[in-house]
Amino acid sequence: MRPLLLAGGRVVDPAQEHDAVADVLIVDGKIEAVGSNLGVPDGAEVVDVAGKIVAPGLIDVHVHLREPGNEDAETVATGTRAAAAGGFTAVCAMPNTDPVTDNQAAVGFVVKQGQAARAARVYPIGAISVGQRSERLAEFGEMVHAGAVAVSDDGRPVTSSHLMRTALAYARSFDIPVAEHPEDLSLSGAGVMHAGTVATRLGLHGIPSAAEDIMVARNILLAELTGGHIHLCHVSTRGSVELIRWGKARGIHVTAEATPHHFTLTHEACDGYDTNAKMKPPLREAEDVEAVRQGLRDGTLDAIATDHAPHHYEAKEREFDDAPFGIVGLETALGLGLSELVDGGYLTVLDLVRRMSTEPARVFRLPGGSLRRGAAADVVVFDPTGMWIVDPDGFHSKSRNTPFGGRELRGRVERTLVDGVTVFTAAAT
Ligand SMILES: [Zn+2]
Repeated sequence: MRPLLLAGGRVVDPAQEHDAVADVLIVDGKIEAVGSNLGVPDGAEVVDVAGKIVAPGLIDVHVHLREPGNEDAETVATGTRAAAAGGFTAVCAMPNTDPVTDNQAAVGFVVKQGQAARAARVYPIGAISVGQRSERLAEFGEMVHAGAVAVSDDGRPVTSSHLMRTALAYARSFDIPVAEHPEDLSLSGAGVMHAGTVATRLGLHGIPSAAEDIMVARNILLAELTGGHIHLCHVSTRGSVELIRWGKARGIHVTAEATPHHFTLTHEACDGYDTNAKMKPPLREAEDVEAVRQGLRDGTLDAIATDHAPHHYEAKEREFDDAPFGIVGLETALGLGLSELVDGGYLTVLDLVRRMSTEPARVFRLPGGSLRRGAAADVVVFDPTGMWIVDPDGFHSKSRNTPFGGRELRGRVERTLVDGVTVFTAAAT
């Protein structure tokens, strides 16, 4: 492999609090040096990235790759290509596949498909309970041995507090987080959107914020009881943000993520019965969006994760009540972060990269998230001034279900490298 010099870019590396113009030299798939006016080694490829941002590759701890079982919507290959196009060099794959990824062989299959895809890295998440039925625990040890980096029953909550207590204690012995989809099913019931004025106007069943807040509180208390690590997925309410802030202040091992749609959109997006605004947890109110943004600003919410949830076109064409929950997110996340959080004055570029790379790596104990010497050269290069219009037909994902089609975003990914190998490059470069 030829050495690669990324010359003259703005190097943003939160792990080293570095935000300054520098060269990045990559040798044998690793970061060899970051500094000014690095010499050009013999035979090196030199790429002029002046005016561009060079950052550690983005890491998404919450994606649905749909394989096995729903390859019409996405596969590991297409999902990891979508990830690379979005600037992600690693994704964590949720286990709510068909069959459920709840054993060693199933985890091994996802690892193997990820390696074959040669795009973004794939780290499987194993199920908490066998078949995600909230009855008995899956074999965490075997799944970790096969490559699982966390456990989750995402798509569903762990309904039994006793089982969650056991899961947190068991996961602690493997030093992995338990990633929970916090939803009290008895409160969310038949709800299809946030319980509020818009649901009333549209005549749709609502999901109250308390359905999330109650389970967030339960999980934080169980993490305190067990000393285990609870990671709360897709936080959407002001109440959750307050509870997590309280738990952290108390020294409880709680971490949390927020999605780009929850820091961008409100329940108003459901107007016109747009099924691309139907997700779980639902889009909430302006005060909730503000609380999520403040949580990302002050670190109450550690990471941005997309909850990339591809669905076949026909599924989202159904009536609002019958359409599935969720949207794709890998190819719009960075643009939404720059356009909404950086331009909105909530985060610096350094802090956005921290929430999308360095912190996801830390929270899930993954490699990456840094451009330190000797680290694998997982790198994203993006043009922070590049404006583009979201065109779902141009997605690398197999699915098109996004509410952001037609929206103008700032920040174009130009190149994504994994182990120093270019796995995505924009047509213009
Ligand atoms: Zn979920």
